[in-house]
Amino acid sequence: MQSPVRLYLVPTPIGNLQDITLRALEVLREVDTILAEDTRTSSKLLKHYQINNSLESFHAFNEHKKLTSLIDRLSKGETMALISDAGTPSISDPGFLLVRACHENQIPVECLPGPTALIPALVNSALPSDRFVFEGFLPAKKGRKTRLQAIKEENKTVILYESPHRLLKTLTQLSEELGGDRQASISRELTKIHQETVNGSLTELIEYYNNNTVKGELVIVIAGK
Ligand code: SAM
Repeated sequence: MQSPVRLYLVPTPIGNLQDITLRALEVLREVDTILAEDTRTSSKLLKHYQINNSLESFHAFNEHKKLTSLIDRLSKGETMALISDAGTPSISDPGFLLVRACHENQIPVECLPGPTALIPALVNSALPSDRFVFEGFLPAKKGRKTRLQAIKEENKTVILYESPHRLLKTLTQLSEELGGDRQASISRELTKIHQETVNGSLTELIEYYNNNTVKGELVIVIAGK
């Protein structure tokens, strides 16, 4: 590659394997090393596209430990692509620490544009998409109440990531804090066979998910104040 970039952040599909750009595939083929959150998960994608590049693990539990040696290798000219299990690295996934360390060490970084769950969920929600706030996952315990109170006062559309087993609890707490009339949307299993978007008030969504099993990955989008 002619580019001075040493580290690429490469978005990968959030379900449908076709959702990967031609440039993402080219970068994954040409870098010296692919850093993957879960090498077994990423092997399936790479096998599908017949990419046989060397894979190395880089996840939330080893990212601090590996930082110095990765920066050393990148400084010496090695090229790397960071991928996560799904979507854009560094968005509720490892990446930020490595990008920051690269910038501190004058190592050129480029994030390719590509799949991420928050944008299709926002657009599907039919809620205003001109200004929005991405809140990622709410804390499970400490700081949760403060974040819920901040969401209550937020004027912009708010996007949350959530796990299916916590959905009803979170919707109920949102409804208690923001009022049951607040409009919201749940996009589930985006790009997959059972994808579904349900829009309605928080009260309607709670009722819907009390009567329907919640499976798979999902995004909550909430109307601003
Ligand atoms: N880096 C990813 C991105 O760019 O969207 C996010 C990774 S985060 C660990 C995983 C969360 O993303 C899931 O719990 C869910 O909230 C959301 N997510 C990922 N894939 C999804 C999909 N196909 N449909 C709905 N939500 C999804």
